[in-house]
Amino acid sequence: LSYNSARFLISASRLEECPPDAGAEVAFAGRSNAGKSSALNAITANGKLARTSKTPGRTRLINFFSLNKPDMHLVDLPGYGYAKVSRDMKDDWQQHLGHYLNERRCLRGLVLVMDIRHPLTDFDQMMVDWCEHNQLPLMILATKADKLKFGQAKTSMLGIAKKLKDYQCVQHLIMFSATSKRGVDECREALTQWLES
Ligand code: GDP
Repeated sequence: LSYNSARFLISASRLEECPPDAGAEVAFAGRSNAGKSSALNAITANGKLARTSKTPGRTRLINFFSLNKPDMHLVDLPGYGYAKVSRDMKDDWQQHLGHYLNERRCLRGLVLVMDIRHPLTDFDQMMVDWCEHNQLPLMILATKADKLKFGQAKTSMLGIAKKLKDYQCVQHLIMFSATSKRGVDECREALTQWLES
């Protein structure tokens, strides 16, 4: 499986607009600004890949990227937590996302991207609980690790591991940086394991 050849496929505003529910896919979630787009760009070695997801009008859509095997996708879920969005928008977002997460049979796992300096926000915790409840494998990317000294980054990782020690769904907890590319190979290996199993 080659990540470098990932290409934008389609944006979906509703479940019916998603590609056929066949093959295998892994979805990326995270708070806005956590570093999700940068992580996707680093994993696919494509500096522009997830820019599509950030163009006006697409930020609230589910964006699909094709890999080099038929029906294998990486999925960029809408970022959560813009202070600006109204309550209605939030409900709408939750419904849209909830729908995708609950219905997609080909979903093999969820990658939760969090800023290593601000790990496990309420939203993150909600996603972890959802994965646990639905027995969906979870990978955590603690990103922007380059912003901390190594010792501080390690301490943050230990804190996350401790808080999540009783969760069965957590399969990978990776110290990551889109800037230094730390964790990129480990993440790709874990994705391949999910997508090809
Ligand atoms: P998204 O909203 O979750 O998609 O976040 P972005 O990927 O757009 O990143 C938000 C901000 O954090 C941008 O200014 C990025 O340049 C910065 N950023 C993202 N990842 C990293 C990282 O690994 N290291 C550093 N130093 N900055 C990062």
